[in-house]
Amino acid sequence: MPTPPATSVALPLQDSFGREIESLRISVTDRCNFRCLYCIPDENIEWLPKGDLLTFEEIVRLARIAIELGVRKLRLTGGEPLLRKNLPFLVEELAVLPGLQDLALTTNATELVRLAEPLAKAGLERVNISLDTLDRENFARMAQRDALPRVLEGIDAAEAAGLTPISINCVAIRGMNDHEALDFAELARRRDFEVRFIEFMPLEHGHRWGEHSLVPGRELRERIQERYALAPSPDQDPHAPSRDWVFEDGSPGVLGFIDSVTAPFCADCNRIRLTADGKIRTCLFSLREHDLLAALRSGEDDAQVAARLRAAVATKELKHHITDGLFVKPERTMSQIGG
Ligand code: SF4
Repeated sequence: MPTPPATSVALPLQDSFGREIESLRISVTDRCNFRCLYCIPDENIEWLPKGDLLTFEEIVRLARIAIELGVRKLRLTGGEPLLRKNLPFLVEELAVLPGLQDLALTTNATELVRLAEPLAKAGLERVNISLDTLDRENFARMAQRDALPRVLEGIDAAEAAGLTPISINCVAIRGMNDHEALDFAELARRRDFEVRFIEFMPLEHGHRWGEHSLVPGRELRERIQERYALAPSPDQDPHAPSRDWVFEDGSPGVLGFIDSVTAPFCADCNRIRLTADGKIRTCLFSLREHDLLAALRSGEDDAQVAARLRAAVATKELKHHITDGLFVKPERTMSQIGG
């Protein structure tokens, strides 16, 4: 595993298409306490052995190196990140890294009643909560866990702890939860939440994804607009995967549409991912990975690791191929990448 030549850290972390990488998503575990039908439906999952997981110390070191190269935003993901023991300790270590501008977490909220306060105290700024249905029976059907009340309590705890704005991520699947689009819009209005509808992507275990299960974001937006007039958000972040809309009647709440399949945003992509076992993925749909764990554990110094990160970014894919006939499904599933 030859080490790429070191280059000046002054140079921005850029891919071969000129996109600057400012966001690093860090998966801290592949484990999850849900069995969402569109993600990991089976009970008998072989999790990564503990010894193969990045330690907190290794995560902090890689995050520090990435920030020195230009990353400004960190997002902690899983599996379900709050299943990783002592996560507030990791948050505390990351939150003080010089140059960091944003530290967020994506969670299914089941552990937030217990952890929202400690996470906020440790320096976490905000949370995205994965919530695909507001109907208890449908929740039990989709996640194969009767956990909706606990999730809603977790959302309240996050709000009370100041982990705001609260973003709700809803993966829309035809015939499963797309009939609840208006209910989610009303949740956004009632609680001043950012509700984001995410198009179902072909990263599931098994073969559930297809034209039959995909609900284009445009279709959901049109359904909601039959009841509420929407306007593009004046605060749209050009690099954000979500296209945000606000209610024309001035009601609080934002609706976001992450149309990864039908309206890809790859041209503005500024993200890379670090898997729980220390691999860099330059795209959610990458077919190759770059092993930083082996580099760390073989004693490479920061400059060598930085050179590896830069070399990985240089190979970042232009876009995904879901709709152009060239798509090859990656081996890793969403639960092993972390979204
Ligand atoms: S598909 Fe890949 S390139 Fe496109 S936005 Fe997602 S991570 Fe970026």
